[in-house]
Amino acid sequence: MIDYAEKEIRYLKGIGPRRSEAFQILGIENIRDLLNYYPRNYEDRSIIKNISEIETGEKVTVYCMVSNIESRRIRKNLHILKAVLSDETGYMNVIWFNQDYYYKKLKDGNKFWFFGRVERKTIPQMINPIFSDVFEDFAIIVPVYKKNKDLTQNIFRKTIASVLKENNYRFAEILPKSIMDDYGLVSFEEAVRNIHFPKNNDAFYIARERLVFQEFLLLQVSLLIIKNKHQNKGLKGAAYKNFNKGNAYLDNLEFELTGAQKKVISEIRSDFKSGKPMHRLLQGDVGSGKTAVAATAISDTCGNGYQAAFMAPTEILAKQHYHNLKDEFMKLGISTVYLGGDIKGGEKREIYNLLENGEADVVIGTHALIQDSVSFSNLALVITDEQHRFGVEQRKALAKKGESPHSLILTATPIPRTLALILYGDLDISIIDEMPPGRKSIETYAVSPDKRRRVLDFAGKRIKAGFQVYYVCPRIEEDDNSELISVESIYEELKNYFSEFRIDMIHGRMKTSEKDVVMNKFYEGTTKLLVSTTVVEVGVNVPSATLMIIENAERFGLAQLHQLRGRVGRASDQSYCIMINRGTGDVARRRMEIMASSTDGFYISEQDLVIRGPGEFFGTRQHGIPEFKIANIYQDMAILKKAQSAALRLLKDDPMLRLEENANIMVEINRLMDKYTM
Ligand code: ADP
Ligand code: MG
Repeated sequence: MIDYAEKEIRYLKGIGPRRSEAFQILGIENIRDLLNYYPRNYEDRSIIKNISEIETGEKVTVYCMVSNIESRRIRKNLHILKAVLSDETGYMNVIWFNQDYYYKKLKDGNKFWFFGRVERKTIPQMINPIFSDVFEDFAIIVPVYKKNKDLTQNIFRKTIASVLKENNYRFAEILPKSIMDDYGLVSFEEAVRNIHFPKNNDAFYIARERLVFQEFLLLQVSLLIIKNKHQNKGLKGAAYKNFNKGNAYLDNLEFELTGAQKKVISEIRSDFKSGKPMHRLLQGDVGSGKTAVAATAISDTCGNGYQAAFMAPTEILAKQHYHNLKDEFMKLGISTVYLGGDIKGGEKREIYNLLENGEADVVIGTHALIQDSVSFSNLALVITDEQHRFGVEQRKALAKKGESPHSLILTATPIPRTLALILYGDLDISIIDEMPPGRKSIETYAVSPDKRRRVLDFAGKRIKAGFQVYYVCPRIEEDDNSELISVESIYEELKNYFSEFRIDMIHGRMKTSEKDVVMNKFYEGTTKLLVSTTVVEVGVNVPSATLMIIENAERFGLAQLHQLRGRVGRASDQSYCIMINRGTGDVARRRMEIMASSTDGFYISEQDLVIRGPGEFFGTRQHGIPEFKIANIYQDMAILKKAQSAALRLLKDDPMLRLEENANIMVEINRLMDKYTM
């Protein structure tokens, strides 16, 4: 039996080589691809009204008689076709521009269905409506596809409609009946038919729900299977027996760990003892103390005779970790090296050697760590900090340098736990849900630009009181085409304004050596005010910096504002965040209200989901969240939860998906897994 779904669309009627190539560019090769290519939008022509009922501005279908048809060529490229439409309730005018071929189709006294947008002069008027003398396939909800220039919407619609009308296309049901029954889902066939040509609004929502559910379920089941594979592959991770070095590291700390930090360390240690490789995500809000946890894990690793690698997304951050940790590690007899893109030539070769022959126990660096020429003598722990900056690929590349090393991913991206559990379904998750004691909540204000002088005076007072200040701007340099405030212009201004203090600037276009000098001066407290781009967004830790000023705050998303604010409030002194809002938009205003009302990253991210407009997927890629065909994780949270419970149940009853009724899920998952291979 030939699976009709596999039939290539170039064998369909009306699809020649050119069209089939145009479809191919969109990733559509066979009938399955075609039917799984869901509309981007719809045009609802199913609202039918009498002329007396229609309202200005709406798109509507009317059934009318045509009269007074007039066809005129005004000039070479302007043709006008006019007519009067009427039904029992009234009259309206209709006008088409450059559609002279319609003239032949319209006949005085005949009736047609018209669909278009209504405008009103003295009487209603439609401009460029489409029309037909048959009702069938006209007054319906019509799909609108994302297409390319070699295809028209009509070709798309016709091709899909004709496939759906063919009798020999049998839809293989993907989900087992029990799940469809329990979650009230329609069949795959009904869903596909109605996602393309919904009978009505309800049919559309029901179809969409089924397809969203399926998409989430398949992802979730795949991730859980990957996780089971991790656990059952019999892969051996280094089994640690000795935790003296980790304990010694903790004893040397000048603070007591929070309960949450302790809990997470014990979760990590039970992975270490298990003899199986750890795959763990550590989520903790900015400033919650993830570094101490990471350092304990590194010390444990070295205490058992293995090497560890700690990868951070920027040189600033990697160096900060290096400088903070190397002396502590030294006390424990652990030798640490730094490797970033700025290490060159002989020095680099020297570090490669130390790692390869095992003389260096720990390397802290940037993605320079994943270069081919880096190799280890016995790497057993890989930590990536702020993982949303790294792709899965980069993480894997580093892990390949050891024999199934333990892997710990640190993230401050505060996605809600439910979402994290699902999107990182292949990882175990630990959460630090408690801040170190004595932190005062950061006082946060949004101000308009006319208050800027007062903000600067406040900054001056803070500096005189012995604290430091960040001043973040969205751009590096002035640009005639943009009104955004730049680092360079603010730097010039403040250098004069605060002539008695040392002011500096930092941005991504500076040389590494220049950035180092600037950062060091700020770390040691010589520099009082640092003007910067968002290069300071991630991880930078200068406890005596207690004021964050953000220019053009309307330009930043909530997650980013929260990260920026996280640069202050890192010790027990009262800290402040002042956002200068130069925008007028409601969303920006709402964001600032949320920022001013809370410092809880999880609450903020949940609010972020609430105010994001539909389709506004910004940042998902960056956060390592997979892209979906139809689902929208922000809007479809409720379905996501259902799909998750269904996935768990499915695998509990049939861990390898061997049952006949689950066979088609397995087939779909194998298709997906090609993308997610671990
Ligand atoms: P993040 O989770 O954002 O990476 P860090 O690890 O940089 O946070 O920690 C932020 C600051 O809090 C650092 O100065 C660190 O020394 C301090 N810190 C971490 N844990 C504790 C604790 N249990 N008690 C007091 N201070 C802590
Ligand atoms: Mg950090």
